[in-house]
Amino acid sequence: MIAEILCVGTELLMGQVLNTNAQYLSRRLSALGIAQYHQQVVGDNEQRLEDAYRLALSRADVVITSGGLGPTVDDITKRVAAKVAGKELVLRAEAEAMVRERFRQYHREMRPNNLSQAMFTADTTVLLNPYGTAPAAIVPMGEGKFVVHLPGPPCELEPLFAEQVEPWLRERGGRVFLSRYIRIFGMGEAEADYRLQKLEQGSNPTLSPYCSTGEVMFRATAAADTEEEALAMLTPLVEKVRDALGDVIYAIDPDDSGSLARCAVEALKAKGWTVATCESLTGGLIADTLVGVPGASAVVKGGLVTYMSEAKTLLAGVPAELIDTCNVVSAEVAEAMARGTRERLGVDIAVSATGLAGPGGGTPERPVGTVYLGLSTREKTWHIPLRLTGDRMRIRTLAVKHALDAVRRAAR
Ligand code: AMP
Ligand code: MG
Repeated sequence: MIAEILCVGTELLMGQVLNTNAQYLSRRLSALGIAQYHQQVVGDNEQRLEDAYRLALSRADVVITSGGLGPTVDDITKRVAAKVAGKELVLRAEAEAMVRERFRQYHREMRPNNLSQAMFTADTTVLLNPYGTAPAAIVPMGEGKFVVHLPGPPCELEPLFAEQVEPWLRERGGRVFLSRYIRIFGMGEAEADYRLQKLEQGSNPTLSPYCSTGEVMFRATAAADTEEEALAMLTPLVEKVRDALGDVIYAIDPDDSGSLARCAVEALKAKGWTVATCESLTGGLIADTLVGVPGASAVVKGGLVTYMSEAKTLLAGVPAELIDTCNVVSAEVAEAMARGTRERLGVDIAVSATGLAGPGGGTPERPVGTVYLGLSTREKTWHIPLRLTGDRMRIRTLAVKHALDAVRRAAR
C-alpha cells in the first residue's frame, strides 16, 4: 500500500503554521510500514486542490488530507474530493447528530453553514470526532483507492488518526510491520554506518540510520504476514548489528521513545542506587534530563549547581587550593566535585561536570570544548576527559549525554 499526505491550507504555504501534521502522519505511516513516495501542500484553492488530488490518486492508494473540514468558505477539502470522485455531498444523519451534540456540549450556537461539516458522499465512512466539531471520513474514490479526511488542528488529527484510521489501515494493509530501534552513543555516524553498510542494503528487513546530537539510531523493520514471522526476520538482523557495534548500543527498543536518560534511570533502579549531580558548565541540565524520566524520583536524590569556583568549595567541598593548583577545568577538580557531592548527599553514585562551553575563554592547553566528568561510587572515584566541539549549547548537551552514558555504564 502506498500513501500520500496532502495538507490543505494557505496558512501552511505562507509559513504561518508549521506543518506538524505531515511529520506526525509520516512517522505513524512509517511505523505501520506503509510506503510514502510524495507529499503535497496546497492552498485553499479549488483548481489547485483538484489537481493535487488527481496527481496523488495517480500514484498512491490512500491519500490522507489534513485541514479544510470546517464550515467556512475556504473549507473545500471534502467538496473537491467529491468532485474528483464524481459524486454529490449529502447530509449524513450520524454526522449531523454528532455536530449538533458537539455544539450543545461546547455551549456554542450552531449556524446553518455548520451543517456543511456533516455533508459527505453517500458511500463515505464517517469517523465521528470526539475532539472537535468536524467529523473525519474515509471516502472511496474508485479502483480500490481512498481519500481519508482529517481535521487540521493537531489535537484532533492525532488522536483521530491513531484511534480510527490506523486500525483501518492495518486491516487493509494485511501485513504486520515490526520495528526495533537500536540506539547508539559513543560512536560516530560515519563509523557506525561503515560497519553496517552491508546490512543496510536489504529491502526486507530494512535497516536505516537517524542522527541527532551525539547520537545515532538505527531502525530495523521487517514486514511479514504474521508477527512471529516478522520477529524471526528481525531477530537475526538485530543480532548482527549488535555483533558489529558492541557496547556502544545502549538500548534496543520496540518504539522510538527511548533515551540515554531513561536507560540511566533504569540501570540505577535495577541496581538499587541513588544518584546526585554536581554541575558547572551544564548548570543543572544533567539533573533536569534525569528528572524528565517518569519514575526518576526512585533514584535521583538531588543536585548541585556549582558554577563559580567558590560554589564548588561551598557546596561540594572542593578544596580551594585544589582549584588554584590544578585549574577549575581539570580531572582533579571533577573528581573532587563528584566525591564531595556523593559524601554530602549520601548517594551511591555522583556525577560531576566541569568544562569550557565557550565561545570565549579557551587557551591552547584548554581549548573550548574541554570537559572533565567526575564519577564517584562507594568503591572508587574516576574521571572522563572529553574534547567536544560545536557551539555553547551543543557542548553542554554533549556533556550531559556523556554524563548520562557514564552513569548508565557505571550502574550496569
Ligand atoms: P482547518 O481545519 O484547515 O481550518 O485548520 C485549522 C487549524 O489547524 C489551522 O488554523 C492550523 O492552526 C491547524 N493546522 C492545519 N493544518 C495543519 C498542519 N498541516 N499542521 C499543523 N497544524 C495545522
Ligand atoms: Mg483551513
